Amino acid sequence: MADLCDFLRRHKRSFPIGLSGKTGMGYILTGGISPLSRSNGLAIDQIIEIKGFWGNGKKFHLSRPNTSKESNLEWKALCGAAIFLGIITKVKLKTQPLRPLISWTANLSFSQLSECINQAESWPNSLSFQWIYGENIFAHAIGEVKNPDHEGLLINLLERLPYTCNRIINKVKDMNSLPNLSLGKNTSNKSNHCEVLGLLGPSWQEENLKILKIIKDLIEIRPNKNCYIASQQLGGLTHLKDIDTSFIHRDATWKPWINGAWEANEKAKKTKTLKWMEECWYNLEFICPGVHLAQIHPHLPWHQKELSSAFREWLPKLQEIKAINDPRNLMPPLIS
Ligand SMILES: Cc1cc2nc3c(=O)[nH]c(=O)nc-3n(C[C@H](O)[C@H](O)[C@H](O)COP(=O)(O)OP(=O)(O)OC[C@H]3O[C@@H](n4cnc5c(N)ncnc54)[C@H](O)[C@@H]3O)c2cc1C
Repeated sequence: MADLCDFLRRHKRSFPIGLSGKTGMGYILTGGISPLSRSNGLAIDQIIEIKGFWGNGKKFHLSRPNTSKESNLEWKALCGAAIFLGIITKVKLKTQPLRPLISWTANLSFSQLSECINQAESWPNSLSFQWIYGENIFAHAIGEVKNPDHEGLLINLLERLPYTCNRIINKVKDMNSLPNLSLGKNTSNKSNHCEVLGLLGPSWQEENLKILKIIKDLIEIRPNKNCYIASQQLGGLTHLKDIDTSFIHRDATWKPWINGAWEANEKAKKTKTLKWMEECWYNLEFICPGVHLAQIHPHLPWHQKELSSAFREWLPKLQEIKAINDPRNLMPPLIS
């Protein structure tokens, strides 16, 4: 994604990449939630043409349909669930004009995070809020400057956000120039392995403090210092519903993700971390009923549950499409 971003910058264009420039094609194929998605849509919403091979070896070359009719089911399946169905060799993508970005980063306390989330839920779509909660709380707001007047409006909103320390407001040229959403350096001298589970759900509104208290309790019992819960802000994607895709959670406002880490090659610690992740999921499911399959876990017992939460009533049709196009299950399974 960083390479794509660099290439496009030379042509004064941009693409809604995610929080890291390091991700590859999988970012686009699994939905692709960008800090700019609230106004620009998901990465899959930018696909105009898609080319590749189904799991059964047959070639396909599909163009974005104008309507969401029965005959477009293969397109719908490929936009968001392609990794289960075949190998994508080419995509034609829509790009956007390159616009400067305003970046706000700061360290927050628990109650400041609550207040920031509260404010962010009434922001315009050109601004999004992401945060990470582990050893400490770090937050990153990103806004796209549409015109000089708009810049003032964004800064005004960002200046209202509370913070503890290290507040930095910067103007950068593109997504690739943004700081990382991270808790700082891993101080452990042992290498860690991890699993990530992405959830999706609506605005928190009056449930804000209740949810954050649950998260605080979960963080306090995390089995490894590198375990954390973070979140990206979506919302405003419902206007893109007419593009029928496998990302069915168009009304989601937050994508909290659970990062479970353990020391490499420590089986018992891995088991403990996976249990903690399931506990997090269980406790947050009431407000985050959806799943974003940016990471898939066919090797874990919760694969069926993540598939059902990601695709809901669309899953049986998706399984039918897979049975036709990848009958030998060469691609990752859509059933556990
Ligand atoms: C640091 C970091 C930041 C991230 N930030 C975001 C974010 O802001 N928003 C977001 O939505 N996600 C984010 N993600 C999640 C990321 O988008 C997913 O993990 C994505 O699947 C990574 O794709 P990849 O190609 O880099 O990795 P890979 O592991 O190579 O691929 C991921 C999956 O896609 C499949 N795949 C890859 N290429 C193809 C292809 N051509 N055809 C068929 N299947 C293919 C692979 O088989 C695999 O199952 C982030 C991940 C990291 C590590």
